Amino acid sequence: MENKNLYDYTVEDVSGLLLENVDAIVVVDPSIDTYKTLVRHGMFESFLKESGIYHDLILDLWFHFNDSNEKVSGDYQIFADKTGIFNGKYSRRLKLVLEDDHKTHLVQLTVYPFEDAKKYIFVLDEFIDSESLQESLTTKKINTIQNSYLFSMYIDLVADTTSSINVTEISDDVVNYNLKYSDWRMMIVNMIWPEDQEQFLRRTDPEYLKKNFTPGRTSSYDCMMRNLEGKFIWVKLIFSRAQTYNEDDYRFVFMVQDINDNSLELISTLQKYEEKAIKDPLTGVYNHGEIETQFNNALTHCQKNDGPASVLMIDLDMFKQINDTYGHSTGDTTLKQIARILMETAAEEKAMAGRWGGEEFVIVCRDKDAESARVMAESLRKKVEEYLFPEICHLTCSIGVTELKASDDFAEAFNRLDKAMYASKHNGRNKVTVL
Ligand code: GH3
Ligand code: MG
Ligand code: MG
Repeated sequence: MENKNLYDYTVEDVSGLLLENVDAIVVVDPSIDTYKTLVRHGMFESFLKESGIYHDLILDLWFHFNDSNEKVSGDYQIFADKTGIFNGKYSRRLKLVLEDDHKTHLVQLTVYPFEDAKKYIFVLDEFIDSESLQESLTTKKINTIQNSYLFSMYIDLVADTTSSINVTEISDDVVNYNLKYSDWRMMIVNMIWPEDQEQFLRRTDPEYLKKNFTPGRTSSYDCMMRNLEGKFIWVKLIFSRAQTYNEDDYRFVFMVQDINDNSLELISTLQKYEEKAIKDPLTGVYNHGEIETQFNNALTHCQKNDGPASVLMIDLDMFKQINDTYGHSTGDTTLKQIARILMETAAEEKAMAGRWGGEEFVIVCRDKDAESARVMAESLRKKVEEYLFPEICHLTCSIGVTELKASDDFAEAFNRLDKAMYASKHNGRNKVTVL
């Protein structure tokens, strides 16, 4: 066929030339889930088998990560059956990574359905020229920006259809899955964190969307969802209704945004704030508000007949003298050391220690009656008495103990506790009194 005149070329010549130049041709019969390879050159000698399972071919072509042949998680592979259906000619660019060379190959795929779309011809060509690679590098840059969006698509609730689905990490461009919106919801719900599934179904319900979205309105909520690797991450699900003057037009854009890093940071900040809100800044034990809450919870606990509960009030003896003799800063250090002793004791006894104010502390013990609370208070009194404080050496405390009664309200219980503590003071300090 050398030096042939342009006007002498025949259809046979051209089909021969096509067969020589095209990298791969595959015929597919989706009804028996099988493909057969007719032509394969270059990279396709290893990528394509002589014949194989069509579903596997779809997974190899689409359902792997960008620039890797690692498959996406099983949840996302459910889209594979919908991806492999073609009603008309279809063409797109894919990135394939071969196991042999671990390199990314840029491939153009064209699908020609025949026999009334019952079978397909797949034509695959690898791009190796620099122009295409240049283009691929540019799309990669854009992709990094878009990567915070995992998924997007258009929804028409009236026709119950989805279109232009884009799973960012699977491919650069948009795919038209043959997928009804109602089916899509039921597939996606399995990727949502179990506790969030009910909310997902409620908020993606067509009737809910119709009722709650005026044209142009956007709304979102956060939940946990499996990402392409199968790991649960925090995402923002965003629904936006198209701007329209037709009241019966219910088209939406749906997007899933990856907000995992920000959410984890937010959660840890909230936890820090929560800690701050309930802890006494000087001593690190619970603050007045929190220990009062625990006091009331213990009261409820015994009112519900869930078992006994007791409280201790600890007041340091002659603490004013410590400030007067050694200075306020030594006083503060001493309060911190006392608090550490109280925390240790509380931890051993599964109780909670808090600073009531100044040099007064309260310990709330669930599941302790008056006698076991007295034993605990006595051991605490001794611990403080025997502790060798730097600088001031010795310090004692007076303790009041009371068991909570089902008939108590807070004021009654607290008065009894206060009286018990003062009785210890009046009896010469460094004492435990149970009332
Ligand atoms: P007692 O309870 O044995 O009757 O004598 P006290 O000296 O401990 O009693 P009082 O209630 O008169 O004094 C408590 C003192 O505790 C007063 C104050 O100087 C000191 N105090 C309260 N809060 C703090 C604090 O945060 N830091 C320091 N350094 N001292 C404090
Ligand atoms: Mg006091
Ligand atoms: Mg005191």
